[in-house]
Amino acid sequence: MRHDRDFTPRYGQAIEIVPGVRRLTANNPGPFTFFGTNCYLLGTDRLVVVDPGPADELQVDAILKAADRATIEAILVSHTHVDHAPGARLLKQRTGAQIVGCGVHRAARDLLENEVNPLDASGDKEYAPDQQLEDGEVFRTAGLALETVSTPGHTANHLCFALDGADLLLSADHVMGWSTSIVAPPDGNMRDYMTSLDKLLARPEQLYCPGHGGIIREASQYVQDLKQHRLAREQSILSQLANGDKSIPEIVTVLYADVNPALHPAAGLSVFAHLEDLVGRGEATASPGLGLNSRYGRRA
Ligand SMILES: [Zn+2]
Repeated sequence: MRHDRDFTPRYGQAIEIVPGVRRLTANNPGPFTFFGTNCYLLGTDRLVVVDPGPADELQVDAILKAADRATIEAILVSHTHVDHAPGARLLKQRTGAQIVGCGVHRAARDLLENEVNPLDASGDKEYAPDQQLEDGEVFRTAGLALETVSTPGHTANHLCFALDGADLLLSADHVMGWSTSIVAPPDGNMRDYMTSLDKLLARPEQLYCPGHGGIIREASQYVQDLKQHRLAREQSILSQLANGDKSIPEIVTVLYADVNPALHPAAGLSVFAHLEDLVGRGEATASPGLGLNSRYGRRA
């Protein structure tokens, strides 16, 4: 699977992607955010701001500077991770624009017995939209029409937005060019993620503007590659189980042998997501039940 890691963030500046679509990357680089979270400004004299970013007044200053004399008519939010959503409240305070988009933060399933949510700190629990968008709903503002494409998997509330008349999809953290997405239970769900990839494959847009990193062209091919990558990983896990019961760390040690051990806990969550899906489909067994510390086997 090939990723595109060629990216120059140019913090504080809004970069034109196509006419009427600008990208403004927040200065929050990190192992899970690449060079930072991409905020998008759509429109010219009336704007929609998509995913303002983290709670960072400097980023809000940069958005207002890029907006110049244009009115910000709405703030759109794709999902409730703390690197995307909290800036919406700061921007609302300074513009009065309504927050529109995904529903409140929630996990993909209830916590298991004795399960501690390892992703708890990554969710923005204070996020509350003025208007929640549903799958297929077209949001019209600033002379633009944005179709809501519900794409759970990375988070349960994740939305993409298709810009009408532009062959362009704002893919947020569902599809990114620089890396695969994090799909980690209980907030994420692998089956949902795969279904959401298929949902995008059935759509016409070929230019994706992701939440981190550069734009993706020929997106259908790339989404196919992402899907194949996950199916190959699933097969590797099943091969591991065919040799006898395994714990998640045992699987990670083999499958991620060439990955920095510091990233192994994150890899373990990804393997857990696959196992949860395999157990759900009756392909694998979990003893004493689903969990990070359980042992997994191949269903005979
Ligand atoms: Zn995210």
